[in-house]
Amino acid sequence: MRLSRYFLPVLKENPSEAQIVSHRLMLRAGMIKQQAAGIYSWLPLGLKVLNRIQQIVHEEQQRAGHIPVLMPTMQSADLWRESGRYDDYGQEMLRIRDRHDREMLFGPTNEEMITDIFRAHVNSYKDLPLTLYQIQWKFRDEVRPRFGVMRGREFLMKDGYNFDLTREAALHAYNRHLVSYLRTYERMGLQAIPMRADSGPIGGENTHEFLVLADTGESEVFYDSQITDLTFGDRQIDYDDAAACRAVLEEFTSRYARTDETHDEAVFAEIPEDRRRSARGIEVGQIFYFGTKYSEPMGATVVGPDGARVPVHMGSHGIGVSRLLGAIIEASHDDKGIIWPEGVTPFHVGLVNLKQGDASTDNACEALERELTARGLDVLYDDRDERAGAKFATMDLIGLPWRITVGPRGLANNVVELTSRRSGGSVEMSPADAVARLV
Ligand code: ATP
Ligand code: MG
Ligand code: MG
Ligand code: MG
Repeated sequence: MRLSRYFLPVLKENPSEAQIVSHRLMLRAGMIKQQAAGIYSWLPLGLKVLNRIQQIVHEEQQRAGHIPVLMPTMQSADLWRESGRYDDYGQEMLRIRDRHDREMLFGPTNEEMITDIFRAHVNSYKDLPLTLYQIQWKFRDEVRPRFGVMRGREFLMKDGYNFDLTREAALHAYNRHLVSYLRTYERMGLQAIPMRADSGPIGGENTHEFLVLADTGESEVFYDSQITDLTFGDRQIDYDDAAACRAVLEEFTSRYARTDETHDEAVFAEIPEDRRRSARGIEVGQIFYFGTKYSEPMGATVVGPDGARVPVHMGSHGIGVSRLLGAIIEASHDDKGIIWPEGVTPFHVGLVNLKQGDASTDNACEALERELTARGLDVLYDDRDERAGAKFATMDLIGLPWRITVGPRGLANNVVELTSRRSGGSVEMSPADAVARLV
């Protein structure tokens, strides 16, 4: 992509409405535009990252055997009356009347609707286990939308729902989600720690939140510092193996890690003092097991092996897809701008032409763009007639992991400069070597 033909409305000044660094950088890098409180347009650069994050979520969900669906954003109030949540949910639910005076709502979550789909089509225990998920826009009329996409009113969430015959099978689904979430966040370059949490309006007995540690986080958390040494890495796991999934859950939840709602000073005090940490965190996901809380009132039953109808055991599992952009930036930036982890970067490489209009420099840049693109890399070529300083500042702000700088002086010796955004280190090499290094 040529920057001269792209739409990248970067801001030179710090927007005064942004209180935290990720919001500031997303506005300055031209990724989002606010349209109303907590409601954003996604501009091309922001949309590219949002799509990369969605892609990782889809891949990891499907690796775990979960099946994508897409439900509407608008729901009928009647469905929520069946579960009893229509009145309970309160002011966060945006309620709407259509022209026939029917009560509708913009979905804040989808337990009722997925249960309705299940009961319409599944009859036998032989069709279980089943986990359906979607990535869809949600609306919650938050009292205080703030921090940009971190606490929006309209936001993108991955929400998944498991249906199982027994409590034991549903707990396997719970553990499987925990494993798949660990993989998902690590692929985005994030450490998200599972912490014992409170189930809130979703209900249920078993729940963990995933938290990214950050001073700007809205949650207060308490943990044993040993937990931050754990990584999932590239282990291979058989998601059908209940014992293997449980072992991962045990490994990642055996040390103290809780949000303020479940924090217990007495238990915390048993950890050696030098390992006790209290900090702030950003909630980027949550998993729940809630048994028959929805299946019973809504009649989501299957015929079991003995011929009797039983309500299914369920859980629901959410990832804050749009919030993740903010969380990743909070965890990875410096005073010049964003530093994208390779897994989610909008472009892999930025190409800077130091002498636009010079035939041999232009040719070298175009050749590099062609070769990198042919090898599957996404390239942003700064072909504007701008000073080098301005081009570097833009690249640093938008945070691409690699920059190739091409100028007539280097080219005379057949070298370009390859710079890592994270380390700031630069190396000179031939254009061919730069391509080889990046693919
Ligand atoms: P919070 O405690 O931040 O209000 P929640 O516990 O109400 O979040 P869940 O119902 O657990 O949210 O939804 C799943 C995920 O969706 C959350 O872990 C979070 O990452 C994301 N999320 C929730 N509310 C918002 C919001 N207003 N804006 C952006 N993402 C959100
Ligand atoms: Mg909330
Ligand atoms: Mg929460
Ligand atoms: Mg939550």
